[in-house]
Amino acid sequence: MTPNPQANHPLVTIQKSTYTTLDIQSLLQPLGGLQHYLHKGERVLLKTNLLIPSDPEKAVVTHPAVVRAVAQTVLKTGAVPFIADSPSGQFTKRRLEKAYQKSGLTAIAKDLGIDLNYDTGVTKIEIPHGKKLKKTPLCDYALQADKIIALPKIKTHSYMIMTLATKIMYGIVPGLTKAKYHSMYFRRTAFADMLLDLLTVKKPDLIIMDGITGMEGDGPSGGTPVHLGVLLATDDAIAMDLAVCTMLGIEPIRIPTLRQAKLRHLWPTQIQYPSLSPQDVRYTGFHLPSGAVSLMSGSKNHRQQPVPTEKCTACGQCVEICPKQAIQLIGRCAVVDYSKCIACYCCHEVCPYDAIQLEYIQK
Ligand code: SF4
Ligand code: SF4
Repeated sequence: MTPNPQANHPLVTIQKSTYTTLDIQSLLQPLGGLQHYLHKGERVLLKTNLLIPSDPEKAVVTHPAVVRAVAQTVLKTGAVPFIADSPSGQFTKRRLEKAYQKSGLTAIAKDLGIDLNYDTGVTKIEIPHGKKLKKTPLCDYALQADKIIALPKIKTHSYMIMTLATKIMYGIVPGLTKAKYHSMYFRRTAFADMLLDLLTVKKPDLIIMDGITGMEGDGPSGGTPVHLGVLLATDDAIAMDLAVCTMLGIEPIRIPTLRQAKLRHLWPTQIQYPSLSPQDVRYTGFHLPSGAVSLMSGSKNHRQQPVPTEKCTACGQCVEICPKQAIQLIGRCAVVDYSKCIACYCCHEVCPYDAIQLEYIQK
């Protein structure tokens, strides 16, 4: 990704909202409205965060009310929205069905008469200018879309501290390839650069952030829902994440993706806030992941390890996703071989029963 001088002053619009008072048109009005981004007849990917099949109230997935409101607004332009993501685990029709159903998207698609993606095809592409990622398989649903509206959610992430707009396109990497990349890019800086490389391949045309109920603590799936009460929109992922950091009082340089973006001269020189500013919606007391304090201070004395608890049902999903084959089911419980573990926390992320705790080990 090379710096674009024309994109140095991106706009980020911020609106206070609840899930029952969503007004996407007025949110986008300072950006020129949705018609500025879409044309009649275009197939528009609504790229949600559909990490795992999860009840929307747990704040793991983009809230379906946001997806619905955006889809309705897209339909009014004459464009053709469809909903897609590649959740953690195998990229199969069965897993997609479960994720759509549990996350409230099946009902929306039926009500609005729009498609849910079931195409699990992938195509390998080259990224000649990628810093870390030179080639990768990507999901066909994303490669074939005319336009992309990304719908991330404000959430913590035990490995990358926050998962925001710069990470949302990781979902176009198919299924278990995502876990493989945790093994290949096991240092946070390398992982962050890989995420930034992905953004060069498929940059969302528009990003609408679900910050109404976010997640704090040990996200992206095991944290605690927190009411933040905002929606944000922009066409610049870095600007979006900088705005969220300001809103939550997080030093952005401590977030690996933003730190690497700064080193790659991708930060905007100035962000314009035509409606509310992040200070207007400032939230104090936001809880980062339990491992973030030592990570953000650069301390190497602490590392967290995943510890399966008695909540384990032996479903086997952590075994499937672990990129180092470090987990086995022994009896009715997952057991981790810490000599193989690289602390990527994919197991913690994918566990549907919140059965894996992250605990400090002293070195
Ligand atoms: S730890 Fe979680 S994902 Fe792993 S087997 Fe147990 S319940 Fe399933
Ligand atoms: S045990 Fe968990 S944290 Fe360790 S390598 Fe496997 S998935 Fe990653």
